[in-house]
Amino acid sequence: MSSNNCGITIALSKGRILEETLPLLEAAGILPTEDPESSRKLILPTQDPDVRIVIVRATDVPTYVQYGAADIGIAGKDVLIEHGGQGLYEPLDLQIARCKMMVAVSEGFDYAAAVKPGSRLRVATKYVNIARQHFAAKGVHIDLIKLYGSMELGPLVGLSDAIVDLVSSGNTLRANNLQAVEEVMPISSRLVVNPAALKLKHERLQRILTDFEGAVARQA
Ligand code: ATP
Ligand code: MG
Repeated sequence: MSSNNCGITIALSKGRILEETLPLLEAAGILPTEDPESSRKLILPTQDPDVRIVIVRATDVPTYVQYGAADIGIAGKDVLIEHGGQGLYEPLDLQIARCKMMVAVSEGFDYAAAVKPGSRLRVATKYVNIARQHFAAKGVHIDLIKLYGSMELGPLVGLSDAIVDLVSSGNTLRANNLQAVEEVMPISSRLVVNPAALKLKHERLQRILTDFEGAVARQA
């Protein structure tokens, strides 16, 4: 199945998404033959000889699906917005890996004053498209500083006034004397499908989609 013309390839990332995805895969009858979290393999067979899983970086999932190297994938809405979504069909909100995209500042920073019309805000984030859209809609001018992680440090060392980052419990913010001041959008993970693959392998992909839909509805 090296060229995988009739088989199905699923792109997943390790970590939080994978953990919450395994029950959905199981509902679709897709069982990896070894533990994906501990395996070092990048291509994981499943008990179905026609279905394999490829393990990629979370931010690379849309790219693999867009180019048809994977037929379907699971990615956070944050990742999909930053990618742009070109060449992707996004049929299903899986309601997993839920969190919020938030604006956060140092405790004591006067955010309300800082976003008054005509002012400028320095924003550090990994999510530059989301941040740009959010502040443009508010009419706030920002200087964007692109980071790849540990955004919380930005306001603490004077790199930025604010950060835009994913927040779930808020523990990391609190531990660093930051506070969330605004919700940008709720985030969850989505199923993405290559549109050409959906036509060519319609029956099998549609069945996976329906099984995922059922599993999501049962978990709701
Ligand atoms: P990498 O660690 O490879 O750089 P990443 O940080 O994007 O990639 P994860 O941390 O596994 O990878 O996050 C994957 C996805 O999980 C994110 O795109 C987001 O949708 C979701 N996510 C991130 N943080 C949280 C959180 N605190 N709670 C719930 N879901 C989250
Ligand atoms: Mg991470």
